[in-house]
Amino acid sequence: MKRFIYLAVLAALVIAGVVALWRNAPGPAAVSSGKLRVTASFYPMYYFASMVGGPYADVTDITPAGAEPHDYEPTPQDIVRIETSDILVLNGNLLEPWGDRVAAELVGTPVRVIVAGQGLADEKLTENGASVTDPHIWLDPVLAKQEVQRIADGFVAADPAHGAAYQANAKMVENALDTLDRKFQAGLNSCARTDFVTSHAAFGYLASQYGLNQIAITGVSPDQEPSTQALAALTQLVKQNNIRYIFFERLISPKLADTLAQETGAQTLVLDPIEGLTASDLAQGKDYVTQMEMNLQNLRLALSCR
Ligand SMILES: [Zn+2]
Repeated sequence: MKRFIYLAVLAALVIAGVVALWRNAPGPAAVSSGKLRVTASFYPMYYFASMVGGPYADVTDITPAGAEPHDYEPTPQDIVRIETSDILVLNGNLLEPWGDRVAAELVGTPVRVIVAGQGLADEKLTENGASVTDPHIWLDPVLAKQEVQRIADGFVAADPAHGAAYQANAKMVENALDTLDRKFQAGLNSCARTDFVTSHAAFGYLASQYGLNQIAITGVSPDQEPSTQALAALTQLVKQNNIRYIFFERLISPKLADTLAQETGAQTLVLDPIEGLTASDLAQGKDYVTQMEMNLQNLRLALSCR
């Protein structure tokens, strides 16, 4: 028994020593593979970080493919992955329910935290009587560009040797976002209606940017279900305004959108908040840009645009 305790204490000391060495590891980014090790909280941050990092970064998405980030909690393995990375990229504004907590735990460690959406979320929504900040800035290409620039600045600071490459990659993504912005402007400037009904309130910034009006069935998180009265009022609104399409999302149950469509005689159509792609989406080569383009096509159909 004594021998066992001795071994256990020895093992604990060895582990503590390894942890201490690792915690004191010098930054920035002295890594064996020579690549920046980046963890990103969910798909859009993963996509932007991967595009900016190019061949010089290994980027991991913490939220698994097909999972919904609003209620995802990192596993102990995810936390280890974050703690052993050089950079953690968050959207911020409580999109990641764990983001602020983990960022606070990383203060004083070599892990650099980039909050790509810091200072960009300026729209409020009322949920259960409380005012909450809308975190869905990546769905507005103009705000998304600023997120990309924040990510690039963080990469340059962590790994100045590849700074020119990160800035050049960021410029390419920003050009793609400019192209998307022009397509949305042109595609949505001559439409019969401006109201659209979505599952959760993810499209507020996109709506503001292009002069549209989002009517959400649930709140800022998909699990905020409406009351029976709210659903009845929504049914009436859809009928009165002759809204022909109800948007649903693929990562959450389409039950509410289906019910509303049945009650009103409307059809359902996908509007993707791009909070996560499924494994099959990724295998088919879908990405942020293809999903934004699909969203534009479906908005044009729902709003009867010319
Ligand atoms: Zn959302």
